[in-house]
Amino acid sequence: MTYDFLYDANPMRVRFGAGALTSLPDELDQLGLDRVLVLCSPGQEETAELVASILGNRCVGTRADAVMHVPAEVAARTSAEAVTLGADGCVTVGGGSAIGLGKAIALEHGLPIVAVPTTYAGSEMTPVWGMTTNGRKETGRDPKVLPRSVVYDPDLTIGLPVEMSVTSGINAMAHAVEALYAPDISPIIALMAEDGVRALASALPKIFAAPSDSQARSDALYGAWLCGATLGATTMSLHHKLCHALGGTLNLPHAPTHSVVLPYVLAFNQPHAADAVAALSRALPGTADPATRLWELAGDLKAPRTLAELGMKEDDIDRIAEEATSRSYGNPRPITHAAVAALLRAAWAGEVPT
Ligand code: NAD
Repeated sequence: MTYDFLYDANPMRVRFGAGALTSLPDELDQLGLDRVLVLCSPGQEETAELVASILGNRCVGTRADAVMHVPAEVAARTSAEAVTLGADGCVTVGGGSAIGLGKAIALEHGLPIVAVPTTYAGSEMTPVWGMTTNGRKETGRDPKVLPRSVVYDPDLTIGLPVEMSVTSGINAMAHAVEALYAPDISPIIALMAEDGVRALASALPKIFAAPSDSQARSDALYGAWLCGATLGATTMSLHHKLCHALGGTLNLPHAPTHSVVLPYVLAFNQPHAADAVAALSRALPGTADPATRLWELAGDLKAPRTLAELGMKEDDIDRIAEEATSRSYGNPRPITHAAVAALLRAAWAGEVPT
C-alpha cells in the first residue's frame, strides 16, 4: 500500500458512558462556563429539565424551540433570548435539530456549545451549520459552531423510538459510507468509518428486538460518534447532495430519507469505489454486496424503503435530479442527470438497488 493523504480532522472532546450526563458540570468547569441556556426540541422538555437540575444555578433557562432545519426566525428569537439572559454558552440536548439551534446562536454570538446528542445524526461532530429562510436552507462551515465538548450518554437514547433509532442509525452509516470514498479520506478516518458501520450494523437489530438493551444502545451511540466524526472530517458526495435536495425542497424527513436513499447511491458508486466496498464488506454482516446488505438491513428492521411513502411525488424526480446535478462536486462515479433520475426513480418505487 502506498500512502498519500492529508489528515486534517476537527478537535474533539468527548465524554462517553452510561450516566455520563452527570459529568456536565465538570465539562462546564473545563470550558469556564457559568450561565448556560439549555436547548431541546419540543417533546424533550423532561430531559432538558433533568439537565437543568444537574446544572443547578448555572442554568439560566431552558428552551424547547428546536425544529428541523433551523428556521431563521426561531434562531433569531432564541439568540436574542440567550443575550437577554446573559448566557455564556449553550447546552444542546437532543438530535441534529437541537444542535442546529445551538450552532445558529454560536454563529451569531460565538457562544460555545456543549452537546448532549440523543440521536445518531452526527451534527455534534461537525463545524457545519444550517439555517432556513423563506423555505431555502443555507449551510456553511465555521469552526466556532463545532461543539467544544460532547457528552454521549446512551441512557438518554433508550427512549428513542425504534423506527427513529433504525433510520437515524442508517443516517449515521451514510456519513461513513461517503467518507470511505471521499476525496479527502485518510487512514484514521477510514478506520473510524469502518468501525462505526460495524458497531451500528450489529447494534440496530438488537435495538429493534429489544429497544432498552443498554449494551446495544451504547454500541449504536459509539458507532454514531465515529460516523459523525467522519462526516466532520471529509467531503460528502452524491448521497448527501441528494438528501439535502430532498429535505430542503420537498421537506422529506431527514433520517428516513437518508435511510431510503443510501443503498441506491452506494449501488451506483460501488463499481468505482473498491476500497470503500472492501471496508464495508468487512463491516456489514452478510455475503451480498454492501448496498444490498444495507437494503436488506433496512427491510429486516422495517424501515421505510421507498421515497413514495415519505411523501415524494413521481413528478418531483426530475426536479430533484436537476438540483442534485446542477453544480459539480466530487463523486467516485461521474454523475449525469439521467443516471441520478434513474436512481431516484428506483428509490421512489423501492426497486432492488442495482
Ligand atoms: P431531530 O433532532 O429533529 O430529532 C427528531 C425527533 O426525535 C424530534 O422530535 C426529537 O424531539 C426526537 N428525539 C430526539 N432524541 C430523542 C430521544 N432520545 N428520545 C425520544 N425522542 C427523541 O432529528 P435528527 O435526525 O437528529 O436531526 C436532523 C436535523 O439535523 C436536520 O435538520 C439535519 O439537517 C441536521 N443535521 C445537521 C448536521 C450537520 O453537520 N450540520 C448533521 C446531521 C444532521
